[in-house]
Amino acid sequence: MTNRFRVFATCDIGPALDILRQRGYQLEVYPEPTAPPKSLLVDKVRSGIDGLITTLRDQIDAEVFEAGKGTLKVVAQLAVGFDNINRADANRYKVPFTNTADVLTEATAEFAFLMLGSLARKLWTAEHLTRDHKWGFWHPYLPFLGDEVTGKTIAIIGTGRIGLAMIKKCAGFDMNIFCYDPAYQNHEFMKAIQETMDLRHARGIQKEKTWIQYVSFEEALAQADFVSVHVPLIREGESATPTYHLFNEATLRKMKPSAFLVNTSRGPVVDEKALVRALKENWIAGAALDVYEKEPLPADSPLRDPAIEDRCRLFPHFASAARITRLSPDPNQGMAGRCVQGLIDVLEGNYGGDPKKMPYVVNKEAF
Ligand code: NAD
Repeated sequence: MTNRFRVFATCDIGPALDILRQRGYQLEVYPEPTAPPKSLLVDKVRSGIDGLITTLRDQIDAEVFEAGKGTLKVVAQLAVGFDNINRADANRYKVPFTNTADVLTEATAEFAFLMLGSLARKLWTAEHLTRDHKWGFWHPYLPFLGDEVTGKTIAIIGTGRIGLAMIKKCAGFDMNIFCYDPAYQNHEFMKAIQETMDLRHARGIQKEKTWIQYVSFEEALAQADFVSVHVPLIREGESATPTYHLFNEATLRKMKPSAFLVNTSRGPVVDEKALVRALKENWIAGAALDVYEKEPLPADSPLRDPAIEDRCRLFPHFASAARITRLSPDPNQGMAGRCVQGLIDVLEGNYGGDPKKMPYVVNKEAF
């Protein structure tokens, strides 16, 4: 194939990039593991590239689109979340951008569930006890106990792709499930989950009858033992249902003192200052976080305070970080494969060249 398109990738996304090389693309990959400085990214775009491969670390806004005016044809993002891409700016410059929804859904939900288990059963603290030679005796309740997950009640905040996948995991642990989503409610899915719950009970697979239902945000917070967050980051003015600081002093205070918060969505959905107070002053029992207001988590973050380390699990934005999910070149399995296919669809004019028909284009409204 002839060299037709020039692409700059702000990050090495693995073997899926060979698909572009094999098709004769001129591909440049930023060689460092960290994100390129914005100025370098803008220079690359200004040099006339056709396509840009990005991660959530890159701020893609009017400055970038202006630099690529007349030449930049697509931004292909390696993530389902795209809060780092200014959608209004992309639309104004009529540049389609793609994401990698679906292929990371199960991996992210699975990780959220495992974070929840790690928090409630105190896996981190228990392993430290063993490794740090502090396991001096077996005792019924000393030095601490965890809390069961099975049979408890969870609130799923956001019932999109990952929220629904999380519901499947929770149903398998005989949990009762509250759901809250002001913009999208999947009643068919809820009905199917209730039927499987009823069948499991009828056939003796689970002892107690369990249930799933949509409720108000307040009711979900007030009654759940676990609250798991699966919303996109939406800032004020971007939609009718903003999620910036959805968890703040007022909403954290609505949770039970025995409840746990799990956040695998985006850091700014939780007001970290309020969360630290909630943990220190025992408004809630614990939190497990994969995402932060500032990433990587700063050295002086109050979330690192040893006073709350027994009830605050911290992970490095790792929920989708599973081998096949991240790297498979197959667009039906891996984020990298889907990212590359999204880029190819736009540049090679698949689907009759109509971005509205391209499955991985997000801002279809601009075309
Ligand atoms: P999705 O768009 O399918 O689902 C999001 C749901 O949130 C939608 O149903 C929407 O109606 C709902 N929602 C919007 N505003 C809300 C509000 N104010 N309150 C409650 N619900 C609200 O997206 P998805 O594929 O399920 O992904 C969700 C988010 O998870 C992504 O946007 C991304 O930020 C995050 N994510 C994080 C990781 C990670 O590695 N930690 C991995 C994948 C996704």
